[in-house]
Order: sequence, then C-alpha cells, then structure tokens
Amino acid sequence: MNRSPLTAEEAMPLQAVCQLMAEKQSSSVIILADGQPLGMFTERDVVRHIASHHSAAEPVGKTLVRRVVTVPARTSIDGALEVMHRSQVRRLLITSGGKLAGIITQSNLLDASRRLLHQLSDEQSQLREEVSTDELTGLFNRRAMNHHFAVEINRSQRYGGPLSVVMFDLDRFKHYNDRHGHLAGDKVLKKFGQILKRNCREVDIPARFGGEEFTVLMPAVSSQSAQMFAERVRKEFAATKFLVRGRHNTLTVSAGICERSRHASSTRTMIHLADQALYRAKNSGRNRICLAVAAQKKAKPTKSTSLVARIWNRSRPQLP
Ligand code: GH3
Ligand code: MG
Ligand code: MG
Repeated sequence: MNRSPLTAEEAMPLQAVCQLMAEKQSSSVIILADGQPLGMFTERDVVRHIASHHSAAEPVGKTLVRRVVTVPARTSIDGALEVMHRSQVRRLLITSGGKLAGIITQSNLLDASRRLLHQLSDEQSQLREEVSTDELTGLFNRRAMNHHFAVEINRSQRYGGPLSVVMFDLDRFKHYNDRHGHLAGDKVLKKFGQILKRNCREVDIPARFGGEEFTVLMPAVSSQSAQMFAERVRKEFAATKFLVRGRHNTLTVSAGICERSRHASSTRTMIHLADQALYRAKNSGRNRICLAVAAQKKAKPTKSTSLVARIWNRSRPQLP
C-alpha cells in the first residue's frame, strides 16, 4: 500500500487542489475532514469541473462525487478484495485508529495475494520434500519408498512389465562404526547413497530403508537387469576408499533382489523375498548379490484345512 498518499483538507479551494496535483504529479488527492477521509478528488473531477464552469475558489469538499471506502489496517487481503468487489471501487483507504494510514489499489491486493499463494505452494513442496527425504543421504526415506512401491506395483499389475526391488545391506558395518566412530560411519552411508544415485536411472527409486539398509525400486526392470545394476554398485562401493586417521579403508555391500510375480505381488512379499535373498548373500560370504526364489505356493490340503473346506471336498463327486 502507499503509506503517504496525497491529501488535502475539505476547505481547500479547487484551484489550490489542482495546483497541488500538478506539483506532485498525482492523479488523485484524498480529501480529509479533520484528518478523517471524506472522499477522493481525481483528474476526472478536474475535467468535470472545468466543463461545468465551477468557481475555482469553491472548497473541494463541496464538489466531491467520488466516495471513498475505508477499511481498518488489520483487514485481510481476501477481506479487502471482498469489500472492493461489494462496493465496486478499485481503491481502498486504510485507516488506523480512525486516521488515514494509506491507500491500496486492487492490483496491489491481487499482487500480494498472488505472492502469498506462491509462497504457500513453495512451502508446501518444501515440506513434502522434507517428509519424504532421508536427511543424511538425501535419498527417499522408507515412508516415501512405501508410497512409491504401492504406485509402481499397481502400475506394473495394470499395464504389465517387470518391476524389481534390490535390497542392499552394508557388510559388517557395526564393526566399522565401533572402530572408527559414528561420524566416519555416517560418511560411508552418505557415500553409498551417492553411488546408488549415480547408478540409478531417472525412474528408479533409491531409498534408505533404515540404518545401513537401502532399497532401489526399479520399474520396467527384470531381476537379471537389476542384478547387473546391483553388481555395478557393489563393485564401485568395494573400490571406494575411506580415509580415516591417515589410513585408507574399504567396505563391501551385499544385496538381495526380488522381481514382482504372481507369488510376490505386494510390497510386503517383495521386500520379504528380497530380504531372504540378502540373507543368503550374507550367509554365503557377503560382498555378493543373490536373487530371490519366489515360493511356489501350491494349495496342499493339510490337517489345518477349514471344516467347511473339508466337508466341501468330501461332498464333491470324485472323478474316475
Ligand atoms: P552384516 O554384515 O551382517 O550386515 O553386519 P552389520 O554389522 O552391518 O549389521 P548389524 O545389523 O549388526 O549392524 C548395523 C550397524 O549399522 C549398527 C549401527 O551402529 C549402524 N548404523 C545404523 N544406522 C546408522 C547411522 O545412521 N549412522 C551410523 N554411523 N551407523 C548406523
Ligand atoms: Mg542390516
Ligand atoms: Mg549390515
């Protein structure tokens, strides 16, 4: 808002008001009565007065036709726009304690409202990013990974095409932490995050699953291709040297891979099977990648079959 609009007292002669406008190069003047806004005198009023041969000595207060609408300074942007709309005016005078505090135009208000909206959407997207990002590595966190998983499983089921998940776990990381301290451990986690990101395609979803465990969800990728990716990551990580107190250290990583199938069709089973494969990788010496073997679940009638099922089976005609 303009905090020092041009003002004149109501008793001021028309000629003096016009001179004031010319001097200040202003197209309007707010006319006050004892400091309170009474009305608005504009260039259009000047033209009107010349055309109607009014006396130039007439007090400006008597000639006012343009009313002013005032709102208190605490009025919100939306509230002020609403008043403007209702009163069919394009300017509002702002008052504070009954005195004139400034003037605001419709375009000022619309600009301010637009700025606020932008600021709000920026803040929202920043907030969204913060709740879905792992602070240390900058990768997605587990919560975001779960969300993406649900979306990608759905997409892969609907449109076909493979979907794989790779689960990485740093080898003997506790030992490294105990030996070199938590800060040195954090550096390793950060570096591993960078290696993952560098090897991922745009559509892959690398996440820190928790602690020293990471997942990469790979849309449109078979387990064989995911294995090639995991091998690249494994080799690059194993070749990375971490300098601690003047000595170079190396670490390794193991991984398990599961591709979506009829028997691994939910986030839970895919993660579970990838984790089982990872367990095998650990048990067979670490620093390696294993593929999940999807359990073929054949419904074998067992003693635990429900009573209803047993009666149903018995009453079915037996085929020769
Ligand atoms: P394995 O090869 O069987 O995976 O052994 P490991 O030592 O890596 O596995 P374990 O689960 O015993 O230890 C994981 C360690 O990861 C323990 C913990 O100190 C460390 N860790 C988990 N989160 C963080 C973290 O945010 N920062 C650091 N520096 N260390 C972490
Ligand atoms: Mg672990
Ligand atoms: Mg580990």
